[in-house]
Amino acid sequence: MPDAIRAAFIPADAITPDRDIAHGHFAPGDRIVVIKGVDDGILWGDAMTVVTPSWHTPTNEDGWRLRNPDGGARSFVTGHPRYLVHLSTRCPDCLIYQRALQDYLVPRFTDSKPVDVGWYSITELNQLVHVADGRAGSR
Ligand SMILES: [Zn+2]
Repeated sequence: MPDAIRAAFIPADAITPDRDIAHGHFAPGDRIVVIKGVDDGILWGDAMTVVTPSWHTPTNEDGWRLRNPDGGARSFVTGHPRYLVHLSTRCPDCLIYQRALQDYLVPRFTDSKPVDVGWYSITELNQLVHVADGRAGSR
């Protein structure tokens, strides 16, 4: 995980909120990444393991409990399926999403320093929440 600087502005994300992915697309044991920014021309994010189904309170929808080995006090967070990208298999659905993010984000952050685009935060209840979901939901 790079030691990222926070982006000076948060780019609008029209891709993640519209992503149509079923809860059952993921299963316990899957290795996934949540894309958080750009590092020297490529996407980077937090690699985590899917643990068990868990209610995602910011969206009031089914989510997944995730284990982040680098998460410290926040080793377990709950995320919405549309935040997740498969690492463990070559997954066409996840690849399409990842490519869309890459085409959108990479040209906007050309610095060689790792940048966190600020799309994700973690609530006090260890819920991972995207900016588009956080405004309407409870923080
Ligand atoms: Zn997938």
